[in-house]
Amino acid sequence: MHRMKKPLIGITSFLDHSKRVPYCSLKESYVRAIEAAGGIPIILPVADPSHAGEILQKIDGLLFSGGGDIAPWLFGQEPVPGLGTYDTRLDEWEISLCQIAWKTSKPMMGICRGCQVMNVALGGTLLQDIPQKVGLSDIVLHNPAVPPYELCHSISITKGSYLSTLFSSEKPRVNSFHHQAVDTVAESLVVSARSQDGIIEALEAKDARFALALQFHPEGLWERYPEFLAPFSALVRAAKTPS
Ligand code: MN
Repeated sequence: MHRMKKPLIGITSFLDHSKRVPYCSLKESYVRAIEAAGGIPIILPVADPSHAGEILQKIDGLLFSGGGDIAPWLFGQEPVPGLGTYDTRLDEWEISLCQIAWKTSKPMMGICRGCQVMNVALGGTLLQDIPQKVGLSDIVLHNPAVPPYELCHSISITKGSYLSTLFSSEKPRVNSFHHQAVDTVAESLVVSARSQDGIIEALEAKDARFALALQFHPEGLWERYPEFLAPFSALVRAAKTPS
């Protein structure tokens, strides 16, 4: 079937526990980025993992949004100092979505926490806190106290990677709002960018499917720096293509 309609892109939300009762919540910049890229955004609630398959059948592509940390036992670790707040309900829901999306080759992209969720769901591990592995003398600042539209550190994009087709520069500067990072890369993914301290800043599928994981936040940058709309346009394009 040739699909001419705009594709429906599901965006994961998180549980905001700062209210009297939890709210499903999402920064609306993700919604606007998907619309600017030509997709129709639909916010997914934090739902029962057993509903992931049916929800995925209704959407053409999936975007894992940013947020807090991931419970370390979900990637086989004990908690270490520096670990932030996590929400196991959200983790299990997103992991379930990702695993089923992978099995069904649903185009997907992860941003920040979403990048980490994809890696964990597919069998990789995380650094619970970057100084766990990177010495203080080598570390690049990954969580400056600036707004999301401010560029921070540069990244080196792997030559020949899919990511390299989306950016005009091999060493673009990106924003950065994370203290965790990908450690062991999942078997089915490959590194497509690193920062100068060796921290993984992007992953992509080893095979031809569209699965892109970004540690930076293009949704905060594209209005000021239009080239950062490219990852969203790529997701929308992939979601338009019948699998
Ligand atoms: Mn970073």
